[in-house]
Amino acid sequence: MKGKAAVFLGPGKAFELRELTVPDVEPDAVLIRVSLANVCGSDLHFWRGDAPLKLPQDGWIFGHEMTGRVAKLGRNVKTDSLGRPLAEGDRVAYTYFYPCGRCAACLNKEPAACLFKIGRPLGPSEFPHFHGAFAEYYYLKPGGALFKVPAELSDALVSPVNCALSQVIFGLHKVGLRFGDTIVIQGAGGLGIQAAAVAKDMGAAVVIVVDQIAGRLELARQFGADHTINLKEVTERKDRVKLVRDWTGGAGADVACDFVGFPQVIPEGLDMLRQGGTYLEIGTISRGAKIELEPASLVWGAKRIVGVIMYDPWVIPRALDFLVRNRTRWPFERLISHTYPLEKIDEAFTQSEWHAKDTTRIMRAALTP
Ligand SMILES: [Zn+2]
Ligand SMILES: [Zn+2]
Repeated sequence: MKGKAAVFLGPGKAFELRELTVPDVEPDAVLIRVSLANVCGSDLHFWRGDAPLKLPQDGWIFGHEMTGRVAKLGRNVKTDSLGRPLAEGDRVAYTYFYPCGRCAACLNKEPAACLFKIGRPLGPSEFPHFHGAFAEYYYLKPGGALFKVPAELSDALVSPVNCALSQVIFGLHKVGLRFGDTIVIQGAGGLGIQAAAVAKDMGAAVVIVVDQIAGRLELARQFGADHTINLKEVTERKDRVKLVRDWTGGAGADVACDFVGFPQVIPEGLDMLRQGGTYLEIGTISRGAKIELEPASLVWGAKRIVGVIMYDPWVIPRALDFLVRNRTRWPFERLISHTYPLEKIDEAFTQSEWHAKDTTRIMRAALTP
């Protein structure tokens, strides 16, 4: 059996579509037929070449935000990760990383913090060949968590679950967002928009979203944001900080979050916090990017910065429940704005990139392999 995969050959180069042999499924693994694979902001960072990346000789199969159906179960796999019977053809949401189980983070039951959960980039020639979302199949390795998807959720609603949605739920959990809190969300991309809705569902009293694209801010309001700030309209940092203070009873926000991906926004987000507030850092994944920071502002402000990468698998079923509960409250179907066949992956990336420059309305592009 063969399957198609889009192979990444480096920034500025076109993807190459290759036919690969579908591997035999190990006893504890699951082969998934991918139905929807989204172009996530971090995929755009790789594609653009924002950080140095050592690619395998024969290219890299990547992409991670996706959903699909069970194509083949390993012979030991009878249930999903909640113990519910699982069969071929079942729709599933699943992790795309594999905590090692043998490091200090894993020992302390913090699998999301495991440094080894994502290995080096793998090429098409290496087993199990289907390493990423931009392909007809994804090979869920032994130890990967997977969960049956409720029938009432469409693939378009489920595809952001294993990255953007679980990432924001876990992040807000890690910073301890509480009922009645005020929160600033920097960046109204896929993560920021969903963070607004999750914060509301968690009981946040005031949700403020900052971005520079009017269309995204409009979407943020549809997803529960109480206030938005457009950087192009409020051009002075001190004025933006003042707006946040005005909307939070003069104190500043309990929580502020970076979902932007450019670290220059961090000092401003820290300024928007109240004394004792917590900053959630998720956006800046590109190594080497730096900012200047005045540590005394953390000391005298009694502020914390919490970095989070990925999530613990318990988040996925809660993310699915969140969608079932809120699918008519917020327009989740608007998150995926454009779909492309796998053959048009270059177009999907190029047009997503234009979006970042405010020339199109793509929210998230998705491939239908
Ligand atoms: Zn992602
Ligand atoms: Zn580990």
